[in-house]
Amino acid sequence: STPLYSSAASDVYKRQAIACEMIKIKLYNSKTRSKIDFYPLDKKNVMMYVCGPTVYERAHIGNARPVIVFDVLFRLLRYIYGSKHVSYARNFTDVDDKINASALKTGRSIKEITDETINWFISDMKALGNLEPSYTPRATEYIDQMILMNKELLAKGFAYEAENHVIFEVQKYEGYGLLSGRSLEDMLAGARVEVAPYKKNPMDFILWKPSGSDEPGWESPWGYGRPGWHIECSAMSRDIFGAKFDIHGGGLDLAFPHHENEIAQSCCLGGQESFAQIWMHNEMLQVDGKKMSKSLNNFFSPKELIDEGVSGEALRLVYLSTHYRKPLDWTEQKVMANQKTYNKWQQLVANSEVGIVSGNVLNAIADDLNTPLAIAEMHKLAKSGNIKDLKASGIFLGLFGNSSNQNSKLTISQDSQQLIEFLFKQRMDARKRKDYARADELRDGFIQAGLIINDTKDGIVWELSDDFDIKKLEDLQ
Ligand code: AMP
Ligand code: ZN
Repeated sequence: STPLYSSAASDVYKRQAIACEMIKIKLYNSKTRSKIDFYPLDKKNVMMYVCGPTVYERAHIGNARPVIVFDVLFRLLRYIYGSKHVSYARNFTDVDDKINASALKTGRSIKEITDETINWFISDMKALGNLEPSYTPRATEYIDQMILMNKELLAKGFAYEAENHVIFEVQKYEGYGLLSGRSLEDMLAGARVEVAPYKKNPMDFILWKPSGSDEPGWESPWGYGRPGWHIECSAMSRDIFGAKFDIHGGGLDLAFPHHENEIAQSCCLGGQESFAQIWMHNEMLQVDGKKMSKSLNNFFSPKELIDEGVSGEALRLVYLSTHYRKPLDWTEQKVMANQKTYNKWQQLVANSEVGIVSGNVLNAIADDLNTPLAIAEMHKLAKSGNIKDLKASGIFLGLFGNSSNQNSKLTISQDSQQLIEFLFKQRMDARKRKDYARADELRDGFIQAGLIINDTKDGIVWELSDDFDIKKLEDLQ
């Protein structure tokens, strides 16, 4: 039978494997304020946690920034370590006083509001070219784990109980303030901290608080109540990843107090070296040089722009054109200019095969997500007529959809192609270190999965048989 796909004898995979081998990931760690070489705790299980949205209203264009930033990082990690070896968790905060207020105002149930907002979020972020994270936990599904953590914090003396509240005592944690680089005094002066009679120190923060009968709540050792905001991320990341994971991300507005508090809760229990190894924060998005706000009428959602006829990918390009550690100033001109660029690229790649992801694009992204440089490289590819690699590089960055290259007789999905290349590289590596058992296991696995390979003097030539099964390949990683 005719193969679904045949690789060119020009061994595309080999060029890609070489491009991939040279990549060194460097990330800016906001905790140490320095760019570091990234080495995961376990390269077979790279773990990233990003704080997700509070779900009471449709995501605005600012909320999409961290989603796109960390999606680009997710794609890079999958590319380098293999998709099966990267786990990305992004939560939904579905218990919060803003949600309660919205329920009161609209007369709708909390569940109705949060379900609707979560569904909008998923579809809006997909329209911007983002992959779904591996885990999307909802805070309300982790109440037991939060209660357990609070109990542990109380038992170890890091928290105290007062008037049906559980409160974290910041004086008990020496490292408090290290992430944002502030002293307790600075924090107290600079932040609007809630002074309350039941707190020993105004900086102390709430782990659990009582709920009125008309408020959402759960039974707990401290009475009917609900969690404070910060404990959810500590509890969810511990449940999903354990005490330690690689990368924690979110918007810069979360560094203090949210992330500072997450660290205090988690490291008091897990030890100073536990929790996130690297912290990454995206700068904020502004509109026409001003902070987004409803009263300034500069507050809108990606969905509204898409409904006006802008493509999701053009919007994605607007985000990518500014480095994530710089403020992004959103303007209509940028939207129009990026739509023009996108239309031009899309026309160029429409009927092209998929080449390899440009090494320059990969290197730019690996250098602390230098997306503006990656886009400059994309322009160079377009200008020099390297359309195949333009297409591959665009797909890598989350552009050009995936519909254009799926289920076609001529091409296979970029994901499958990347997986195949990754496994070839694994086989090459296994042979290099004389691990013939692993090399044979891979070769047998290829046959099982319907991937036919021939070693020729020009390199490996491969094709997919009709019964090609990507699942079986995935199991080989
Ligand atoms: P929230 O729903 O307010 O908890 O925010 C969800 C995510 O969106 C957080 O990571 C915030 O840091 C981020 N975020 C909110 N507003 C902006 C903005 N204007 N620019 C960039 N990121 C933002
Ligand atoms: Zn968080």
